[in-house]
Amino acid sequence: MAHHDAIVALATATGNGAIAVIRVSGTDAIAIVNKVFNGKDLSHQQSHTIHFGTIRDGDDVLDEVLVSVFVGPNSYTGENVVELSTHNSRYIIERVIHLLIRGGARAAQPGEFTLRAFLNGKMDLSQAEAVADLIASNSAASHLVAMQQMRGGFSSILTELREQLIHFASLIELELDFSEEDVEFANREQLKSLVVEIRAVIGKLVSSFEQGNVLKNGVPVVIAGKPNVGKSTLLNTLLNEERAIVSDIAGTTRDTIEDEININGITFRFIDTAGIRDTQDIIEAKGVARTREKMRQARLIIYLADPQQDDIDEVRAQIKEVAQSGIPYVVVVNKNDLLTQAHRDTLAIIEPLFISAKSNVGVEELKEELLRKVNLHNLNGDDVLVTNVRHVEALQKTNESLRKVLDGIDNPITSDFLALDIRQALHHLGEITGSVSTDDLLDNIFSKFCIGK
Ligand code: GDP
Repeated sequence: MAHHDAIVALATATGNGAIAVIRVSGTDAIAIVNKVFNGKDLSHQQSHTIHFGTIRDGDDVLDEVLVSVFVGPNSYTGENVVELSTHNSRYIIERVIHLLIRGGARAAQPGEFTLRAFLNGKMDLSQAEAVADLIASNSAASHLVAMQQMRGGFSSILTELREQLIHFASLIELELDFSEEDVEFANREQLKSLVVEIRAVIGKLVSSFEQGNVLKNGVPVVIAGKPNVGKSTLLNTLLNEERAIVSDIAGTTRDTIEDEININGITFRFIDTAGIRDTQDIIEAKGVARTREKMRQARLIIYLADPQQDDIDEVRAQIKEVAQSGIPYVVVVNKNDLLTQAHRDTLAIIEPLFISAKSNVGVEELKEELLRKVNLHNLNGDDVLVTNVRHVEALQKTNESLRKVLDGIDNPITSDFLALDIRQALHHLGEITGSVSTDDLLDNIFSKFCIGK
């Protein structure tokens, strides 16, 4: 194993809590901690063992701690790792980290532990990125997709595809060595069917991105409707707290307010907006323009009507506008408490969901309808979903290169050009798992991690 300098950082969050974990990784990690640890001799302990003792700075006892010893390569980073569980005091943490730095470690960069895990072959790049997603996950769905990616579901598919392609690339490159003799080692029909197959798999991965992205980041929902129909009230009821300003004055919800709720493990990001009616009012006009803009970003629209103030033709015209956006929508009639049966009968033609946002009637049914509309098929841990923009871009580039390979087979080009296109496809595939990576790419990914990860 190559020598790696020891890095140290606090691995737990700062703030209230009983315990803090300080992580040290590197060839000398165990030796460095051993110098300040009063207890068993850590250099003679087995991997994956925990030891009680004190940390001392000269005669000063800084804390009573538990240290976990992981002997490389069987550790998170693949190097020797020691995790010190100290009491969670800023003072203790700072003293211990300084002590370890004096003893030969250096402060870790953001994401440096995970970067080392990647460089030491403990995980590929997409798995390392999933670590960040896992830590950021805040719903059952985002947790599931991150977990699945971290465990390598995504990588194993790509690795297999890559290996098959590499095989063909080398056969074709071999042909180049025999270019005088006009031989074909790589069967073009077989290559073609492999490329077609790979393109289909990649196509499926690319189209899983929409769902993957929604699960990871939430479903953006716009609540559209004229001023005063009860949009803020509905949002408040959904969020169950007074976030948006509810007012009797038409058009007071001028800015957009975003918030999210969790329905059956799926995050819905609600975007409350000023109405979608045309208006002369300048401030409100901005709000309306923004509503249209937001509607374009939405994956779901709740169109809210209040038949007390909207006439049915107007409502139908607005539903038409919403429908034209091509985004799934739910038509909801609010203030059901004020409606007569005659009202409801007239409105039946637009097939709405009747609710009373103010008194929280029908809102549960609305939530169920929202779930139905986003139409996410039931997930299980085996589904492979792409959630990362970087990955989807690389997959698209791979498919573009593979399209050139197919063109090259159908309209025969020389082996050297064909090999070039295959290599290009391999390059883009490799970017995802990190078998092809540049310092810039790694920098870009790991600098977004926090220190200690
Ligand atoms: P927005 O402009 O669309 O955001 O509308 P608001 O949420 O500000 O609501 C406008 C008015 O309608 C407020 O006075 C609310 O209290 C009232 N309102 C909202 N929902 C209901 C409801 O279900 N029933 C009744 N009776 N009034 C409601």
